[in-house]
Amino acid sequence: MSQQPHILIVEDEPSIAEVTKLYLQRAGYGVTVLADGQEALAFLARGTPDLVVLDLMLPGVDGLEITRWLRTRSDVPIIMLTARREETDRVLGFEMGADDYVVKPFSPRELVSRVRAVLRRTRGASAVSGQDDVLTFEALTIDPNTRQVQVKEREVSLTAREFDLLYLLARHPRQVFNRDRLLDLVWGMNEYIDPSTVTVHVRRLREKIEADPSHPRHILTVWGVGYKFEP
Ligand code: CA
Repeated sequence: MSQQPHILIVEDEPSIAEVTKLYLQRAGYGVTVLADGQEALAFLARGTPDLVVLDLMLPGVDGLEITRWLRTRSDVPIIMLTARREETDRVLGFEMGADDYVVKPFSPRELVSRVRAVLRRTRGASAVSGQDDVLTFEALTIDPNTRQVQVKEREVSLTAREFDLLYLLARHPRQVFNRDRLLDLVWGMNEYIDPSTVTVHVRRLREKIEADPSHPRHILTVWGVGYKFEP
């Protein structure tokens, strides 16, 4: 824990990756650089760095997909690197839980100061325990570290997708997600899945975590739009 913070840079443009690495190392950070999305996923599956600097357009798996994947597992801070024209992706990245973004071309000094600011902001909670925050709402407890859910202190067994769906909604209280968005964020963008899958999973989640599944307290339907989590 006393070691220097470790930063993963995922960037496929060598010149940007190199200069960013140099500046972050000079600022006292440990740095790993990867150029490929698939490699980044493999790296992140083995362990979590203290912060990820993530280019959006990557070969293999793109930055949005990596953000989505990371956020079902961890609250590691993410700073996106985006091109000016990628504004829609930037917004999507934020919705998925990125912490900040820097628009290319950027000055390496600016990136270093963003990294410092984001680490300052996020370390408070995670530096103490090295873990992600447990979410608690009245009788409902969601622990992303163990992926366990309790209702009235009783363990509830959820499938991996059910957990991911619940955790995503609960991390963004009152934010409305439509079915397509939930499919993208929880199931991924690479395969076609029938939107009614979301409906089925919401129903099962309610049966498992709601005291009265037909009058849900937490997972609410926003008619004609989608779903939201009410804390
Ligand atoms: Ca790129």
